[in-house]
Amino acid sequence: MKSDCIFCKIIKGESPAKFVYRDMDFVAFHDIKASAPVHVLLVPAEHIESVNTLEERHAAVVSKMMIKAKEIAKQLGIRDSGYKLVINVGRGAGQIVFHLHIHLIGGW
Ligand code: AMP
Ligand code: ZN
Repeated sequence: MKSDCIFCKIIKGESPAKFVYRDMDFVAFHDIKASAPVHVLLVPAEHIESVNTLEERHAAVVSKMMIKAKEIAKQLGIRDSGYKLVINVGRGAGQIVFHLHIHLIGGW
């Protein structure tokens, strides 16, 4: 946990979020500034800065997040209309929160 990280604060319950899923390993909540009708973020409980700092030991949580992403897409009714899973890596790619997250975007 990193005290100045907004996603760590959300995971600890110190900042509000509209959760769609949570377990010990990761959470999913609606993006505060949705860029599409459905915009959910999947975020590991551990403070991993980005894909650039992923390690082998994170393999299980990353694959679980991918599998949960398609379940949430189904749950939110966008599985068949199509959706994007996006990870911005680094400032140049638009990453502004340096706690790894997958954007699940769809519902157009
Ligand atoms: P990125 O640009 O890939 O780092 O994405 C960060 C995302 O986090 C943006 O889409 C923001 O709108 C979103 N975000 C930032 N703060 C919050 C928050 N408190 N609750 C929900 N989403 C947030
Ligand atoms: Zn964090």
